[in-house]
Amino acid sequence: MFDQLVLASNNQKKLKELTACLSPLGISLVPQSEFQVDDADETGLSFIENAILKARHAALATGMPALADDSGLEVDALQGAPGIYSARYADGLGDAANNDKLLAALSDVPSEQRTARFQCVIAIVRHATDPMPLIFSGTWEGYIRESLSGTTGFGYDPLFQPVGFSLTSAEMAPEEKNALSHRGRAVAGLTTYFNHIQSVS
Ligand code: IMP
Repeated sequence: MFDQLVLASNNQKKLKELTACLSPLGISLVPQSEFQVDDADETGLSFIENAILKARHAALATGMPALADDSGLEVDALQGAPGIYSARYADGLGDAANNDKLLAALSDVPSEQRTARFQCVIAIVRHATDPMPLIFSGTWEGYIRESLSGTTGFGYDPLFQPVGFSLTSAEMAPEEKNALSHRGRAVAGLTTYFNHIQSVS
């Protein structure tokens, strides 16, 4: 269905995870930075809206089909924050500042109330005005630790302990994280859909 898609992101860690997930399907991703495409303005109010906005922006700038991943962390004790603002939680100062801000916000919250989840929406558009974007989503439930642990992954991984594990997602091997994560689950939906389309075409 697609051999090559523009990835509507300049996040190298996301590119690495998504490439590992999509290469078994024969789909290669070209980051939008290779076409000098800037990040889109994420003005939507949901992961779905922002994923579509980003995919359309990349497709418009390149003339190619595009894939966007919009993802983030929802923390129950913070009424779902940082949510769609996860990347910009500490005003664009980066992952370390985001994690420091999250730890400070949860400093008085006991461990049993530190429930959270990662959300991921993947949107694929065939062209910039595609009226039927493909949408796949995944969720990964867990807890927010009281201190950082681990060095793999990115973003909030050193603070996120998935349900059923004693490790953070930054202490997991990349293949293990990809098999279980919100992003891995969204890609699993995409894989099922693409295999179905191939079997009936
Ligand atoms: P986006 O690029 O606007 O989708 O922002 C995603 C942000 O959510 C990232 O910058 C991270 O802060 C966070 N995030 C999303 N997925 C993950 C993950 O797999 N591990 C850790 N943090 C993540």
